[in-house]
Amino acid sequence: MPNKIRETTLFIDLKALEHNYAYLKSKLKPNTKFLAVVKAFAYGSDAQIIAKKLQDLEVDYFAVAYTSEGVALRNAGITKPILVLHPQSVHFKTIIERCLEPSLYSHFVLNEFIAVSEKLNQKHYPVHIKFNTGLNRLGFNAKDIPTIAAKTKTTSAIETRSLFSHLAASEDFNEKAFTLAQIETFNTICQTFEKETGLKPWRHICNTSGILNYPQAHFNMVRSGIGLYGFGNSNEENKHLIPIGRLKTLISQIHTLNPGESLGYNRGFIADKPTRTATLPIGHADGIGRQYGQRKGYVIINNQKAYITGNVCMDMIMVDVTNIDCQEGDEVILFDENHTAEAFGKTTGTISYEVITGLSKRIKRVFLNQ
Ligand SMILES: *Cc1c(COP(=O)(O)O)cnc(C)c1O
Repeated sequence: MPNKIRETTLFIDLKALEHNYAYLKSKLKPNTKFLAVVKAFAYGSDAQIIAKKLQDLEVDYFAVAYTSEGVALRNAGITKPILVLHPQSVHFKTIIERCLEPSLYSHFVLNEFIAVSEKLNQKHYPVHIKFNTGLNRLGFNAKDIPTIAAKTKTTSAIETRSLFSHLAASEDFNEKAFTLAQIETFNTICQTFEKETGLKPWRHICNTSGILNYPQAHFNMVRSGIGLYGFGNSNEENKHLIPIGRLKTLISQIHTLNPGESLGYNRGFIADKPTRTATLPIGHADGIGRQYGQRKGYVIINNQKAYITGNVCMDMIMVDVTNIDCQEGDEVILFDENHTAEAFGKTTGTISYEVITGLSKRIKRVFLNQ
C-alpha cells in the first residue's frame, strides 16, 4: 500500500482478484467453463484491466450487460468470447462487427438478430438463448421452444452456442425450494430444446451464489461477477474471498462548531455541544449517496468510526471526529478488506453490488500487484 494518501483513491488489488478466481474455480469440475461477468466497469473497478488479468489467467468467457461495454473490451485487446447479456437490436450490426455474442431472449430480438446476421452473410454466428425460469425479467418461456426451434432450423446464419437462465435467489436458503424448481424447469427446457432441434448447446444457470450453493447446477459453464470482486453473499463464503476494492480518502480540513452552529447545506446538523468535524473530498457525485448522511453511514479514521454528519454534498462529506485523535491529511477508510463495502452499504440498507458499482469515474483508480 502506498505510504500516504493524497487524494480519494480506489485501490484495486489484482492479487485478490486472482485469489478469488482460483477459489471459485476450485468449486468447479475441471471441464466446467468459467465466464467472468465484467459488466458495469467490472463492478465499478475497471473492466479493461480486470478482463486483461482474467484473460491472462485463462478464463473461458466474459459477459457484459450492454454492447458498448463489449466494444470497450475489444478495443482494449480482449480476444476471448464476450456474451452481451442485454443487447438492444439497434446494436446488432456492431455486435457482429466486433465479434460479440448476443443473448437472445425474445421473439423480437431473435428475429432481428437473424435478419441482421443474414444481411451480413454470417454463417453459424454464435448466439445464446435465454430462458425465464422464474426471475420474470428477461427470457423465453418453455412454450416458445417450438417457434425458436423452427426459426433456428430455417437459417444457417446463427448457431445456438448455449441455453441459459438466471437464478432469482441463489444466495437465500429460505428460497431453496424455489431455486431447485428453477433448476428443474431449466433442465426440462434444455431437454425439450434438444429433442426439438437435435442440437446439444451448452447449459448455464449459476451466478456466484449459485456456484457456491448449487454445485449440481454448474452444468457446462458458470457466470461469476460479485465473487470475483470479493463477496460471496454469506458470511461463511466471505471468509474465503478477498474484496479487491479499497476506497480511501484523507481529511481536507477540520472545523470546530460551537453549540448552535450548523454544518453544511440546509444546516443539516446543528451542534448542541462543541463538535469537531472533518471534511472529506468525496460526495454524492462520487457514489456516496445522500442516504449516508445524517449519521447513517460512517468512515474509519485511526481505527474509529466517524459518522457522516449533516447532509452529503456533491463533492464532500463531513464526519464527526469529536472523539477521534486525528488531523488534516490523515487517511480515511470508506471501505477496505476489513471494513467491507457490504458493511458500508448495510448502514443504509443496500448491498455490496450497489456500493461498488456506484463509484463514479471521477475517483482515481490505482492497481495493486499489477
Ligand atoms: C450480473 C449477472 C451475473 C453475475 O451475478 P453475480 O451475482 O454478480 O455473480 C450472472 N448472470 C447474469 C445474467 C447477470 O445479469
